[in-house]
Amino acid sequence: MGKEQTVKKEQKMSDKTPIPYLGTPQATTAVLEKYHFVFQKKFGQNFLIDPRVLEKIIAAAEITKDDFVLEIGPGIGTMTQYLCASAREVAAVEIDKALIPILEDTLKEYDNVQIINEDILKVDIGKLAREKNQGRPIKVVANLPYYITTPIIMGLLENHVPFETITIMVQKEVADRMKTGPGSKDYGALSLAVQYYVKPEIVANVPPNCFMPRPNVGSAVIRLTRHREPALDVRDEKLMFRLIRASFNQRRKTLVNGLKNSPDLNFSREEIEAAVTAIGKPLTIRGETLTLEEFAALANVFSGKKE
Ligand code: SAM
Repeated sequence: MGKEQTVKKEQKMSDKTPIPYLGTPQATTAVLEKYHFVFQKKFGQNFLIDPRVLEKIIAAAEITKDDFVLEIGPGIGTMTQYLCASAREVAAVEIDKALIPILEDTLKEYDNVQIINEDILKVDIGKLAREKNQGRPIKVVANLPYYITTPIIMGLLENHVPFETITIMVQKEVADRMKTGPGSKDYGALSLAVQYYVKPEIVANVPPNCFMPRPNVGSAVIRLTRHREPALDVRDEKLMFRLIRASFNQRRKTLVNGLKNSPDLNFSREEIEAAVTAIGKPLTIRGETLTLEEFAALANVFSGKKE
């Protein structure tokens, strides 16, 4: 995993699992002051300071002592303490190296955690799941850094990371985007990817005063549960998502023009017009009005042809 730095715990867990103590404004402030920690805006650092929210996240993720949990962005280890207390094993991936000595301190009571100093977008999560959980589905839990929410979620979904559930704190507007359908300005590639792979459920709405520092936006905890069976019969999933991206990259254009102009697709105008007609749509339609089922039907028409 490249420049990954793994920090092994030396101290063994005692017979009794330690009780998580971070998660209040006082405990968080004490840790930040002890280490003279300076918040990095560029890393989207907003730490949770409300134990009720932390308990809700852990309950929604339904973590048991059988579970291997990946936490993205542990910060000072607030939620990590709760995860270590409930799970069999936790891997916590944190980009900010200034947080590593803090995590070593706040997690020293736990011997079931591995801290990985890396950018989550560079981690081979499939490999981690194979090594740590014999390839069985893992659980992902995170209070996500908001500046890269979409690439993280799309990466987990489209790279076929073996997961059972993903329970994440996101910007309220992003949670809404995941659940919405055609007709909303929030409808887009994220909505379609989420609805294709998982069932999204909003577990809690979380106001800015539950974080330090306070974000400018409202947040929500959303749980994504993988469909047991694929939601739809799509012959070429990758093609379907190329069609979806091409349609939403040029939202204001007709579906036909959006697909014709896309550098990722190589169909002739005639082929595109025939496919749109084959799914029963007029040639003037915009891509943003298509449902997931209609994108799947369109992909199936195309995948019967040569690109
Ligand atoms: N989990 C902590 C909590 O709830 O208090 C911190 C959450 S904070 C919203 C996001 C965390 O993700 C920060 O610790 C930040 O440094 C980390 N982070 C940001 N970008 C990251 C990346 N690309 N890979 C891994 N961690 C990242």
